This record gives sequence, structure tokens and C-alpha cells, in this order.
Amino acid sequence: MSNRTLNLTDDLYDYILDVSLRESDILAELREETSHHTMSMMQISPEQGQFMSLLGELTGSKRYLEVGTFTGYSSLAMALSIGSDAEIVCCDVSEEYTAIARKYWERAGVTNQVTLHLGHATETLDMLLSTDHGNHFDMMFIDADKANYGAYFDLGLQLVRSGGLIAVDNVLWSGAVADPEVDDEDTTAIRALNARLHHDERISLSLVPIGDGLTLIRKK
Ligand code: CA
Repeated sequence: MSNRTLNLTDDLYDYILDVSLRESDILAELREETSHHTMSMMQISPEQGQFMSLLGELTGSKRYLEVGTFTGYSSLAMALSIGSDAEIVCCDVSEEYTAIARKYWERAGVTNQVTLHLGHATETLDMLLSTDHGNHFDMMFIDADKANYGAYFDLGLQLVRSGGLIAVDNVLWSGAVADPEVDDEDTTAIRALNARLHHDERISLSLVPIGDGLTLIRKK
């Protein structure tokens, strides 16, 4: 018994997957294909994909926005869970990575639900705000360049409806956030957002130690 979050041993992690992971064949295939990619560490873990899908279902989300699509695991997991009438808006800078995402969206039959914006996400989010998408989204996932995390949150808070959910990924950054010896730009940016969220009265939050750390934010 433990009254704090457990450290996961390899055996315990495997057990969690054994007794709870439900990953569709197409998601497993996408994960397998991405695992050969040099940047495969950027893909979310399967249990995190399942957790986010559950959050999407719990919040009744039909309008999902994500910043940082990579090869499409999170967007595909969300599209498959929140229904064929859901709207999925994806932001990324990479034609190469998102080509893999597009291939799997096509195969899963969700392409017509997904809008992909290639370019700097701050510009895309600004564009969404100026085209009547304020308070539009039910759920947002932030998982892109860490230096802009603060800007993505600020814009996201305007784009997500009251009662909606923003999930911010990599908030524990392999533990670097708690290591005073580390002061690179990415770690500093994540720490700054974590500190800011802690006392932001406009939201309620929980930092969940799943994957690399995922902060869940409910907009009041
Ligand atoms: Ca991530």
C-alpha cells in the first residue's frame, strides 16, 4: 500500500499494460511504424493515448485541438474514441512527420474529420481566434516545442470553452524539472509554465504522472 504515487518498475509498467491496455490494431501499427523513426521518443505512450481517449469521452468532447501532431498517434486515438461527428484540428510544423499521420487517418477513415495546419502553431492559434473559434474547443492537447508552451497555453485558454480541458504534455521532462543543475531553455520554459499554472485562478488543475507528466487543466 502506498499513499504517494508509485515509482513504476518495468515489471509493474508491463503489468499495467497487460491488465488495462486496449489498443486498436491500427494504433498498434502506427506505434510500430513510428518506433523506427529517429524521433520516436516524441510519440505518446499507448496508455497515455488510452487515458486521453477516456478523458475525451468523459468530457463529451466533440471539438479537439492539438498542438504537436507528429506521426498522429494522439489525434488518431482521439478521433477513434470521440466519434465520427467530432472535429479534430491539428497543428504541426513538419510535412514529413504528418505524412505518416495522414496515411493512418486515411486508413482509419477519419480524414474528413481532421484539419491539419502546417506552420507555426502560435500563428495558427491566432488565426483560429480571429476566425471565430474563441471558446470553440472542448479539449486541447499541447505537445510541441517547449519554448512556446506558455504562448500555447495563453492562446489555448481563449480557444477552449468554459469547462473544457487542456492537457499539457511532458511537464516532468524526464525529471529534469526537479533537477537544479538543469537550466536549458526547454526545461526552463516547462518550469515556468508549471509555476504559472499552479496559481492561475482561471483554471483548476492536476499534474498527473502518466508518461512524461501530463497536466490536466479545466478552464473555469
Ligand atoms: Ca510529448
